[in-house]
Amino acid sequence: MGLKELIKKYSTSGPRYTSYPTAPQWVETLEIDSYREQLKKIFSEKTEPISLYIHIPFCEALCYYCGCNIQITKDHSRSRSYLQALIQELKTVTGVMKTRQTLSQISWGGGTPTFMTCKEIETLHQATLEVFDIAEGAEVSIEIDPRVTTREQLSTLRRLGFNRVSLGVQDFNEAVQKAVNRIQSVELTCEMLNYCREVGFQGINFDLMYGLPLQTRDSFHKTLEQVISLRPDRIALYNYAHLPSLRPHQKIMDQFEMPDIHDRLAIFTEAYQEFTQNGYRSIGMDHFALETDELFLAIEKETLYRNFMGYTVKRGSAMIGIGASAIGEVGGSYFQNIREAKIYEESVVSQGLASFRGCLLTQDDEERKWIIQQLMCKFILRFSDYKALFGKDFKSQFEKELKDLSDFSSEGILTVSFEAISISDLGRVFIRNIAMVFDAYLTVPTKATYSKTL
Ligand code: SF4
Repeated sequence: MGLKELIKKYSTSGPRYTSYPTAPQWVETLEIDSYREQLKKIFSEKTEPISLYIHIPFCEALCYYCGCNIQITKDHSRSRSYLQALIQELKTVTGVMKTRQTLSQISWGGGTPTFMTCKEIETLHQATLEVFDIAEGAEVSIEIDPRVTTREQLSTLRRLGFNRVSLGVQDFNEAVQKAVNRIQSVELTCEMLNYCREVGFQGINFDLMYGLPLQTRDSFHKTLEQVISLRPDRIALYNYAHLPSLRPHQKIMDQFEMPDIHDRLAIFTEAYQEFTQNGYRSIGMDHFALETDELFLAIEKETLYRNFMGYTVKRGSAMIGIGASAIGEVGGSYFQNIREAKIYEESVVSQGLASFRGCLLTQDDEERKWIIQQLMCKFILRFSDYKALFGKDFKSQFEKELKDLSDFSSEGILTVSFEAISISDLGRVFIRNIAMVFDAYLTVPTKATYSKTL
């Protein structure tokens, strides 16, 4: 079967596995007290370095495809009280920890983190440095919107130690940009990219999206050529998830023609071929990186990891999530904060924290989480590693799942040997589908919950 036929066969709805169990399995009975207890228990002594995610939900205008937790406002005074809540949450979390911890990874996401002024950016970062140590060589990243980010903000971020940046792009075609309410010229994007390079950001990423209204194979081909000529270090090519029942604003785009399933598949297939013929390598799912980028090199060294922000080379032993909707992972449990910014702020003011739901992992969850991580990041699962970690024989524990992999085997997506499951280069594109075989909760995948795997 060719790439196009395989993509057609495996295009289904499924999780992105930034966590396992995935968010629909989490419960709302795990609140602030459980989070506080877990923080106290896990951080009673110094641990291995951890990760910190900070969410800034504000955006000046709505992109109609958006699936993030956002608040649209042009009122920049809105970030003032939010910033105070972020700082208070940082202090509460680290106050509960008995010892000062070290960060190997900091990520700011949104929304639009550069909605904040330079002074606010500096205040937030200084507040982080007051309560955490930063490991040497830490990855400090931020998502930026080239339409609203200034050179002054980028210089400030670099001065503070930010070293990775991700630029939202999606599509360069003007008609598509108008239909999704996001006008962003190639020139502006190029200027921002050059400035990011000039001030020393590395691992520069472009986010692209296919399946948007008015997109055609030809129009997206042009975008691909423009992106390849700009040569970002990394590219994430997301499949647009049209879920108007969860995100009513997406209905606005129903007035436009959308690429059908055949066009979507053709667009992804062509993009895969264009990227891989022009110096990029597949990282997994819908991610690509230059062969010189540390993300690709990490596959060879088996040091690629995956967390709520996607692929990374820095493994935190835990993750602290700060801000509205932010997710943390502490001691084998997940905790998520209240999504709505104002209610989040009220909760932090009154209780210091704002978690409202989460998930405590069972033994079976722990094992399947480890399996999915191995497959998605190392692209090899050694049965001896499983035995060493969990004391059991993989083949007898997962007999049914191994049988379910037989189609993938015959299609060259993976091989199952006496010692291991190994994913081929081609198989990296289908990694979500392979991971789904090991998901114990996925008996009835629902279109309304998950995006398309391809
Ligand atoms: S800028 Fe990003 S987060 Fe904000 S609305 Fe657009 S896509 Fe969503």
